[in-house]
Amino acid sequence: MVEGNHRNTKAIINLKAIEDNIVAEQKRMVQGQELFAVVKANAYGHGIIPVAKAAKRAGASGFCVAIVDEALELREAGLSGTILILGVTPASQAVLLAKNDISIAVGDLEYLKDALTYLSNTKVKLHVHLALDTGMGRIGFRNKKNLQKAISFINSHKSFFDFEGIFTHFATADTADRDYYEKQVMFFNDLMSVVERKPRYVHVANSAAALWHRECGGNAIRFGITMYGLNPSGGELELPQAFKSALALHSEVAAIKQISKGDSVGYGKTYTAEKHEWIATVPIGYADGWPRRMQGFKVLVDGQYCEIVGRVCMDQTMIRVPHQVKLGTRVTLIGENRGARISAQDVANYAGTIHYEILCGISERVQREYI
Ligand code: PLP
Repeated sequence: MVEGNHRNTKAIINLKAIEDNIVAEQKRMVQGQELFAVVKANAYGHGIIPVAKAAKRAGASGFCVAIVDEALELREAGLSGTILILGVTPASQAVLLAKNDISIAVGDLEYLKDALTYLSNTKVKLHVHLALDTGMGRIGFRNKKNLQKAISFINSHKSFFDFEGIFTHFATADTADRDYYEKQVMFFNDLMSVVERKPRYVHVANSAAALWHRECGGNAIRFGITMYGLNPSGGELELPQAFKSALALHSEVAAIKQISKGDSVGYGKTYTAEKHEWIATVPIGYADGWPRRMQGFKVLVDGQYCEIVGRVCMDQTMIRVPHQVKLGTRVTLIGENRGARISAQDVANYAGTIHYEILCGISERVQREYI
């Protein structure tokens, strides 16, 4: 993988904002509840290790990731505490995970049997969080009988498995409609009725549930998007308090030229000038995670909104500026520029997606600078 460490297209990450967001959430949590920082997908594009360290400083006691390699990266960087892999991991990695004290989500009995074949010749124990599929339709137990069987299996193989947690995930906690959320809560309580001895962690809340359904409880929350300062509902629901956006995306004017009426710009000549116009070229493109469909969106130069003209290329984007601007002038794609602002939500709205996808999509070619 080649990182773009020698260019002026950068994501500026405000770690203090991440810490402040965690502290703000902790004030809303009930006593005894722990906060797991969700740092999968390179901490939603913000950089897994610096974010995990910041989260730890702010009081996070654990981390959630999606894949084995993310978990290992955290351990290799010296991060202690619970590291839970939320996705399904290959059972063949059971020993590696147990040796590194990494916890895994398990959603069926067959998986445990499979993992046991790898663990049985070792002296290591695998931390297991049983996943309950109460309506997300993704991973987890969907009936009490199977859940009971899995718990009995763990109990009869206690030297290989540690029943550390049980959890579910809500599909609609970020919307105004409460009906489906409430159905999931009922299903969760029903499944939990067969869990005689509760494990150390019972966790159900992502950011949205923690923000708008505090009553859902659990003794840990999985705090993701709002740790990065964003509203999980994308604006449908109002945040109960302010959180700080942690990421800005800036580039610069790398070339500037004047074109005449009738001249066109970019692949497929999808833009044609109507008069003499100044066109600046910005070194960011869809290979950096700036979506190709952003033609027509306005980015910031000297505090002014300037339209993207022509198709976004793989590595470069052209914008129309009001006058000749100096080479090297900052171009802001997300964040503040002389009092004007573009949010990741604005970008997502224009691109027809969610801010999660915009942030995760920022590629390794964009250097992360920490402030
Ligand atoms: N929990 C689970 C199981 C998830 O899959 C995710 C994210 O996808 C989260 C928690 C964090 O969600 P959010 O970023 O909306 O807080």
